[in-house]
Amino acid sequence: MSKTVVITGANRGIGLSFAQLFLKRGDTVYGVCRQASDALANSGAKIIDGVDVTKADGIARLAESLKGVNIDLLINNAGILRNESLGSLDPETIRAQFETNSLAPLLVTEALSDHFSDNAKVALITSRMGSIEDNTSGGRYGYRMSKAALNAAGKSLSEDLKPRGVAVAILHPGLVGTEMIGGHGDLTPDQAAQRLTERIDELTLETSGTFWHSNGQVLPW
Ligand code: NDP
Repeated sequence: MSKTVVITGANRGIGLSFAQLFLKRGDTVYGVCRQASDALANSGAKIIDGVDVTKADGIARLAESLKGVNIDLLINNAGILRNESLGSLDPETIRAQFETNSLAPLLVTEALSDHFSDNAKVALITSRMGSIEDNTSGGRYGYRMSKAALNAAGKSLSEDLKPRGVAVAILHPGLVGTEMIGGHGDLTPDQAAQRLTERIDELTLETSGTFWHSNGQVLPW
């Protein structure tokens, strides 16, 4: 059956590939962005632009645009990567990553939770770099901290939304050749979106709150 899918950061990278994939499956896609790219504009997605997910008015605009819409799948994909090294830490880049990578997906999920259909799913696109156990190389303070915080939020969301029948997946895409990492990765954005979608399709209330690699491996916190 055709689904209604809402994707943040849908104008490029993995988010755009998600949009194209779900459209190909015959689903209705709402592509959320600050400004639509040509690729998103020509994709057939319904565009909700002018949404900066770190701004209260952006999230309010998103919720207002989706009034009366039943959401089957929300993909919180928008994110940023900055770099900090010990000795030259910049609190502003760390703060910006918290705002975008941790707080925004939580607040977007809360703002849209009244729109969730029965058995809706929420996907949080996190990173393996948010795994504390997996960290053997240090650095990347703001990104690692913000994705670890997102993972913690994802676990709480899975518990809080379970009674409503809503399942939550916490997903690492793999190393994906997007602008975020300079275009060189192990996977193309299309391959990453395909694998992540397989994980979302498999998600159940029983497995809700698990931290997965897109290859199906369960990752350590
Ligand atoms: P890109 O940099 O290609 O895309 C990031 C997207 O997020 C863009 O659409 C961007 O919009 C949007 N975005 C960023 N900040 C905001 C904001 N404040 N409001 C609205 N939209 C915003 O990155 P990827 O496609 O690679 O990343 C997608 C997700 O995957 C991210 O959460 C990232 O952390 C995660 N990830 C990616 C990996 C990789 O190897 N690429 C590895 C692990 C995780 P705009 O065009 O307006 O800037």
